[in-house]
Amino acid sequence: MVRIILGFLFLFSTAFSMELKQFYKNMYMVRGVDAMPSPENMGFMSNAYAILTEEGWAMIDSLSTPEMSKEFYTELQKVKKVPVKYLIITHYHPDHWYGVSTFKELGATVIAHKNLNEFFKTPESKLTLELSNQRFGGIYKNVKLTQADVEITSPKDISIGKYSLSIIPMNPAHTNNDIVVLVKGENVFFVGNLVYLSRIPFAGDKGSSVKNWIKVLKDIQRMNPKVILGSHNELLDKKALEFTLGYLNYLRDAVKKLKEEGKSLDQIKEFINQSSPYKNFVTYQVFNDPNIYKIYNDLDLEDFE
Ligand SMILES: [Zn+2]
Repeated sequence: MVRIILGFLFLFSTAFSMELKQFYKNMYMVRGVDAMPSPENMGFMSNAYAILTEEGWAMIDSLSTPEMSKEFYTELQKVKKVPVKYLIITHYHPDHWYGVSTFKELGATVIAHKNLNEFFKTPESKLTLELSNQRFGGIYKNVKLTQADVEITSPKDISIGKYSLSIIPMNPAHTNNDIVVLVKGENVFFVGNLVYLSRIPFAGDKGSSVKNWIKVLKDIQRMNPKVILGSHNELLDKKALEFTLGYLNYLRDAVKKLKEEGKSLDQIKEFINQSSPYKNFVTYQVFNDPNIYKIYNDLDLEDFE
């Protein structure tokens, strides 16, 4: 009996809990935990979304592993037993892309930026998976890298049931393969990792561009979104656009000014880490230094533009 109880405790302490929430009419989400991937959270550290239509589900992002995407699918089927018609991947980071094989095997059409497929074809994609699996306690051991069926390089509209979805490339920003999804007529925007509130975005990816990310956020502002769905927050609105723009503008301006004054990278990091108004926000400790490093190096390239 004791062994059974201990067994249950063990089960509960390691299992992730995934709660499906309806956040808007016909639209559902699961909310990842605010942490880095670990065996405890099984990599469930970002949100994924699904829209219920007469023709089936349209989904945005696939979560981190096949185990997790299967759980998400099971929850959706409890709402309505209809197939997943489309899966749109906002960008190639593991918590958005690595669960994709589940939906591919279920017959969904997978849509992503062309640069995600380009990355898929490189040896680096497999190496990244292997290294991430080692680094994060084997949580990605069942991941099957899968490329998109439809490649996005320019805005594309798809119709599903009564919905029309605009899929818009917004790269380079967080990565070189960011796309966002606008539900036309509802002004609901799925923005992947482009918009945050009260937490620091990651701009250290090798394909990122803070300069263009700032431009892209202003483009989204002009589209006047009503509901903004990011990957690491609850429902957002225009205040989150202001927060993200504020941080990126602050950091880029600060690095640029200090670099022009002849400061070294280490001096710039030290100065900013003492004076930044953003230093108490979540993920500052892990992302701010890589963000400074990326901006510092990109400024060298801009000198030749
Ligand atoms: Zn990302």
